[in-house]
Amino acid sequence: MAQITLPDGSTLEIADGTTAKQLAEKIGPALARAAVAAKINGQLVDLSTPITADAAVQIITLADTEGLEIMRHSCAHIMAEAICSIWPKAKLVYGPTVEDGFYYDIDLEESICPADFERIEKKMYEITKADNPFTRKQMSRSEALAKLASDKYKTDNITRTDSEIISFYSHGDGFEDLCRGPHLPSTGKVTAFKIMSVAGAYWHGDPTQKMLQRIYGTAWPTKKELNAHLQRLEEAKKRDHRVLGKQLDLFSFNEAGPGFAFIHPRGMIVWNAIVDFWRSVHDKYDYQEIKTPIILNEQLWHKSGHWDNYKENMYFTSFDGASYAIKPMNCPGGCLVYKTRQHSYREFPMRVAELGLVHRHEASGVMHGLFRVRQFTQDDAHIFCTPVQIKAEIIGVIELAFEIYSAFGFEDFHIELSTKPIKHIGSDEIWDISTNALKDALKHKEIEYKINEGDGAFYGPKIDFHIRDCLKRSWQLGTIQLDFSMPQRFNLFYTDKDNTEKTPVMIHRAILGSFERFVGILIEHYGGNLPIWLSPEQVAILPISEKSNDYAKIVQEKLKNAQLRAGCDLSDEKIDVKIAKAYSRKLPYMLVVGPKEAQSNTVNVRIRGDKENKTVEIEKFVTIAKLKIAEKKVGLALED
Ligand SMILES: [Zn+2]
Ligand SMILES: [Zn+2]
Repeated sequence: MAQITLPDGSTLEIADGTTAKQLAEKIGPALARAAVAAKINGQLVDLSTPITADAAVQIITLADTEGLEIMRHSCAHIMAEAICSIWPKAKLVYGPTVEDGFYYDIDLEESICPADFERIEKKMYEITKADNPFTRKQMSRSEALAKLASDKYKTDNITRTDSEIISFYSHGDGFEDLCRGPHLPSTGKVTAFKIMSVAGAYWHGDPTQKMLQRIYGTAWPTKKELNAHLQRLEEAKKRDHRVLGKQLDLFSFNEAGPGFAFIHPRGMIVWNAIVDFWRSVHDKYDYQEIKTPIILNEQLWHKSGHWDNYKENMYFTSFDGASYAIKPMNCPGGCLVYKTRQHSYREFPMRVAELGLVHRHEASGVMHGLFRVRQFTQDDAHIFCTPVQIKAEIIGVIELAFEIYSAFGFEDFHIELSTKPIKHIGSDEIWDISTNALKDALKHKEIEYKINEGDGAFYGPKIDFHIRDCLKRSWQLGTIQLDFSMPQRFNLFYTDKDNTEKTPVMIHRAILGSFERFVGILIEHYGGNLPIWLSPEQVAILPISEKSNDYAKIVQEKLKNAQLRAGCDLSDEKIDVKIAKAYSRKLPYMLVVGPKEAQSNTVNVRIRGDKENKTVEIEKFVTIAKLKIAEKKVGLALED
């Protein structure tokens, strides 16, 4: 007999060799039907796995993230089988999951194109209808290598694992693939999927290797969820910041500088509104601001460790017989500022922010509008403190981050904590102190988080902030990283209470990450309908005819005096055309003015996204608009 502990703490006796599936049946028929895999002592396994000793067991369903991933990965196998049945010469490389779906890299001379997706899907439906079991077979490493001797890709996959037992999975109909698993119990558990796209991808991302075909798919527990996902993608297409950026005249790119954004006057207004807000919050949290050079001597980057760890992504230049690097990060510059004078524990915590312009070389294939650029402004800060101050500082950063995110309407966050990797510097003691400080800070704020064991940087543990936009897409924005390496590399000191010189703790943190990327995210999050405080043009004044131009100018003057960004359309176009033009600029308010309004000192307000219009006194409109700006309101209705 084996004693099973379930996630709720209850225990259960089962006969040795009972499978996870049988255990699920024992717990209840509904769970058995929903079960897709199991977690035995923390390890994900197939449902057919026998349980041979006392264990903690969790039955995994599609409601669990792991279950969803297993389903998506299983779907990748089903797609691979479908492709191999259509193109028997196709060689399978690997098929991992990605957000919302999966891909499979395939080596095939013939190009698979979108027109082929339908017949691949048709074949996949045949496989899922057959509802054949995923069957695991395992053998020794040497047997597996002998079996796959003619398949260089699968041989390579084996050499990349350190497991002595190699497993294969078949769908009961001749198709078999090397895989670690786990998978669904049978192909019929996959019900809602779609092939999305195909792209070229080098083997292991290495441009000297063969270009493979990467076929992407998405899979969901139900057809309804699949359709909702496809609808979100349609919506995302409409909100594409590259399209809206052009339509709203916010920014552009030019082949003279691939990956370097040109921010236009309207884009700079959005940018500066974010900077002003960012500065005001940082001021509130007692940050100082500095600016450090973007070109610094190469020696500095040897000292900081970037040369050894980050050289491939850096730009270099030389002059006056010396070599220089363009900074990919702001930290070394921050350390040099720190070193310009002596420091005492009395000054700590010392919070030093920098909106630093950094350059990182990205491969041309991965660039994507403002989301992935080669030059960006990082909203960086370094906090120098003592070990006992870490927790309070982390809490402060978390509060500051949430204050900033919620101002932009991001309320759906999740946090990940990454802990000590195998390769690391610093004593176990300092790792424990700082990892616990991060945990304590999260606990103090009653924040749930996911732990990524061993995923921290070699120089310290970190917390990452992820937000979800209105299309449920997840973005990693902020990060808090503790660093035990750089203060030592740069010989940073402070004088402690006992008059001895000590090395300060250095906390790196960014809240928005890249300003460029954040502007892109905001454009898509709001679909270009920026809230009034961020709108480049908050109000357009539209006289119904030339006769009302003078009054329109008076209104504009009043608005400008109240610091509202107000444009005035004095063209001789018809009012309908003026309205249509203003509408396409997605500005919050249009004020239509004619003789009637001039006589009564009023404006006829048209609100973005609202069919109704309303006449109000100018002063009243100004008061309302200013209040909405001050409170960073998203809604525009005059009554709110
Ligand atoms: Zn697999
Ligand atoms: Zn830093």
